[in-house]
Amino acid sequence: MNLAQRMLALEPSATLAMSGKAKEMKAAGVTVYDLSLGEPDFNTPEHICQAAFEAIKSGKTRYTPAAGIMPLREAVAAAYKAKHGLEYKPTDVVVSNGAKHALHNAFTVTVNPGDEVIIPAPYWVSYAELVKLAGGVPIIVQTRQEDQFRLTAELLRASITPRTKALLLCSPSNPTGSMYTPEQLGELADVVLEKDIIVIADEIYENLVYGDNKFASFATVRPGLQDKTILINGVRLAPSNIAKSMAALQSQETSNPCSVSQYAALAAIQGDQSCVAKMLAEFSKRRDYVTSRIAAIDGMSCVEMSGAFYAFFNIQAHLGKKYGDKMVETDSDWCLTLLEQQHVATVMGSAFGAPGYARASFAASMETLKEAFDRIEAFVK
Ligand code: GLU
Repeated sequence: MNLAQRMLALEPSATLAMSGKAKEMKAAGVTVYDLSLGEPDFNTPEHICQAAFEAIKSGKTRYTPAAGIMPLREAVAAAYKAKHGLEYKPTDVVVSNGAKHALHNAFTVTVNPGDEVIIPAPYWVSYAELVKLAGGVPIIVQTRQEDQFRLTAELLRASITPRTKALLLCSPSNPTGSMYTPEQLGELADVVLEKDIIVIADEIYENLVYGDNKFASFATVRPGLQDKTILINGVRLAPSNIAKSMAALQSQETSNPCSVSQYAALAAIQGDQSCVAKMLAEFSKRRDYVTSRIAAIDGMSCVEMSGAFYAFFNIQAHLGKKYGDKMVETDSDWCLTLLEQQHVATVMGSAFGAPGYARASFAASMETLKEAFDRIEAFVK
């Protein structure tokens, strides 16, 4: 059977592929130190589990409105008002099955065939593929480690053409951990407003910000931006016509996001937030630990991890060498050989548009991180 054209160019997700390899090794009885997926090792807090149980027991297992239950959409709008001062109507909020689904729908409802979407690299593995699925053209703009992997206003301006539809921004960044200051976002916003493009702002890591770094939602940094921005979080906030269109799309593709998860999400937003602070404190310790381990390895480096839970480290000095009897030329060889020889799972930088790097998630336990970095250190020696 012939595949559709759109599938021929689609790359499978490298994060899921590496985690799949690690899972296969685990199933074969190997102990794997898995830093591939950014998936927290914490259990879901008790009050959120309880809300899910109650939803199941009380029969909230039927179809919901396509864009999500109204109490959840109201709670999200209220939370954005309280936290960021942004006025959204509950109908501007669309609930999806996670940020990836939200992104897919955002591209589908905004991108026409041939439209260009600017994606600063290093970028999260799914952005470019989702743009292609929508018929768009990903325009990858390289940023530099010495600039903390940030897109500058000059670079943005130089990348805009008459075909540019959107800019994708992810801050705090998956995979680099870098983030933009409110001032830097403001400089990008000036170009966005002047050139009249839209911004799809992936802010899924807004609550994972370390030290003195300050998070600002992109829509807040200049007046008039809200109409040009689709905010992606666990849910989406968008200008009304876009939200309506996303709801229509969702009504045809999944009917609605899982009802039980929506009640759990409502409890998460309205309930006690101390679990967030506890997780942040733990991630912060792990971030400091991973930073010190990378700095201690000769020829390895990373930018300051301001947010999220990923270390994106430069391994260029460790390529073009033999590891045992294996010649390791590329970041992909390096990650696969590390998994094979040391049982440590990471993701190759080339999957994020940055050859010569590797990504390690520090959403894994401290014990796993310790053993994994001992092994990485032994590997490169
Ligand atoms: N955000 C996570 C990651 O990048 C989840 C895996 C994925 O969907 O790519 O590891």
